[in-house]
Amino acid sequence: MPHSAEERARIVTIKGSTVEVRGLLSYRMGEITYVGEEKLMGEVIEIERDFATVQVYEPLEGLKINDPVYLTGKSLSAELGPGLLSNIFDGIQRPLEQIKKISSSPFIQRGIHINALDRYKKWQFEPNKDLTKGHLVKGGDVLGSVQETETIRCNIIVPPNTTGELLSIQEEGEFKITDPIAELKGSDKKKEELTLMHEWPVRIARPFLKKLPVHEPLVTGQRIIDMFFPIAKGGTAAIPGGFGTGKTILQHQLSKWSDADVVIYIGCGERGNEMTDVLREFPKLVDPHTQNPLMDRTLLIANVSNMPVAAREASIYMGITMAEFYRDQGFNVLLTADSTSRWAEALREIAGQLEEMPVEEGYPAYLGARLANFYERAGQVITLGSPYREGSINITAAVSPPGGDFSEPVTANTKRFVKTFWGLDPNLANRKHFPSINWLNSYSGYIKVIEEWALESGLEDWGRYRQEMFTILQKDDELQHIAELIGSKALPADEQLIILVAEIIKEGFLQQNAFDKIDSFCPIEKQMKMMKLMLLFYNRAEVLIKNGCPISLIISLKTVKILKRMKEDVPNDNIIRMNKIEDYIHTDMEELGSKYGYKV
Ligand code: ADP
Ligand code: MG
Repeated sequence: MPHSAEERARIVTIKGSTVEVRGLLSYRMGEITYVGEEKLMGEVIEIERDFATVQVYEPLEGLKINDPVYLTGKSLSAELGPGLLSNIFDGIQRPLEQIKKISSSPFIQRGIHINALDRYKKWQFEPNKDLTKGHLVKGGDVLGSVQETETIRCNIIVPPNTTGELLSIQEEGEFKITDPIAELKGSDKKKEELTLMHEWPVRIARPFLKKLPVHEPLVTGQRIIDMFFPIAKGGTAAIPGGFGTGKTILQHQLSKWSDADVVIYIGCGERGNEMTDVLREFPKLVDPHTQNPLMDRTLLIANVSNMPVAAREASIYMGITMAEFYRDQGFNVLLTADSTSRWAEALREIAGQLEEMPVEEGYPAYLGARLANFYERAGQVITLGSPYREGSINITAAVSPPGGDFSEPVTANTKRFVKTFWGLDPNLANRKHFPSINWLNSYSGYIKVIEEWALESGLEDWGRYRQEMFTILQKDDELQHIAELIGSKALPADEQLIILVAEIIKEGFLQQNAFDKIDSFCPIEKQMKMMKLMLLFYNRAEVLIKNGCPISLIISLKTVKILKRMKEDVPNDNIIRMNKIEDYIHTDMEELGSKYGYKV
């Protein structure tokens, strides 16, 4: 039986960001609780007889022993419906803009209760013409749709776990989010009104019909990812890296350029100014896939600095639940979290307040289980309900190990549950080689899948190019060690050529400038063409070297510079210029051959 919000307990102790309360016998784990006269929001996290511990999600100053505590009987839930996109929420789904208007200060005033979704805005609802009175409907069935933003048409679906006979459905028209748009008669003969929105408890994964094997890439426009360490739609990836290695910039790049339908960006409170950058920059960006504002398909969650650390813990669940809501409509969703280490620290802090037995470095024993739970909510699925829909959730999460040590518990545990690992390297970052993804220790578990996809998509050479470039980079790594000892000039010419081509690949292909207008996003066609040209250069130069041409003549060829700079110099859709570079390579090599008499 749910409690009424009037049912009260009292504060007996205040400890950190938790309070211990007493006075009732029927608390529920995860129950939303309002604490003190200001009704600060919290959640029951431990129960012992008539005591309960409540995690408070707002600053606790001023709370006193014996203050009242109100129980709601409700779990921490997300509001789901049109109006989420282009919004910025805090960790417990309060819209930041509205809060600012009310509290007229940059910090969130305590005890402010604002609905996530605007109760006054009207939406143009178009009913599903296939549905008529008497129809039996079930969770996931599409009742109709509304245009949520220019880019996204939001399906209005029957909430999961709901079935019944359709008694009525509204005609096309304007409705507020809480207006009834359909009425059902459930099996218990009770009538139930459906609205444009519904709620869902965030700690419970939303159901789907079936998980599917992943089958296509999430195209990110980032060369080292798309070509070397790709991620599939429905896949998971970790971005571990120490301070300043480029985690946040990479997350921004993925959010801006990936071909996901919907992007959910969670700032877990990494560094204060980082979220400010997102808030300032994202609203100005244009979606390269639709030319509409990027925010039309984006939703931001910002953990604000004056909120207790525990709110970060909630924000991860809020984010993934909203991701599932868009997946269930049939969209491909990208969820990025920066950084999950801050989330894990919140877990550690909460566990400490509960005096739980810590295991590694103070983290609770269930750290691995929580991470597993989170990553399991990614995937490619057939959704519930009709018409047939497939949707997916990608998770890419930054991890910030102290001192950049990948063996620490959060990185090590994350590695167990993600399929792709983009390890950021401080040495590369120091040399301003960005993204600093280390090509020798990173990996993708989706190579086979993407190779099949590439074959079907007219990119037959993807696997071969990738392998050939990898081989050059690996040989280069070995040669660098030798060159350090004896100097690169002492190496045979064919090995010096490998070092030269690896340099072209590193500078001209792997490095990608997030702040360059052209280079920030590189379409697949250009990526493939770049690989083709670099390998063509290598193969032709190799013949010259074999036939006695000295490496110095190859190094001074014009095309070396052109290959290193085509990423920024050639506009992304200029195929003609790319084909011209191919001609230059041939001419360069042939001129060299005929001038000095080497066979080409
Ligand atoms: P982290 O989040 O790991 O602490 P950031 O993402 O803030 O690191 O990156 C630190 C700095 O590195 C950025 O301010 C930027 O100057 C540089 N940087 C990172 N990635 C790139 C990139 N792809 N292109 C250009 N500069 C980058
Ligand atoms: Mg960062």
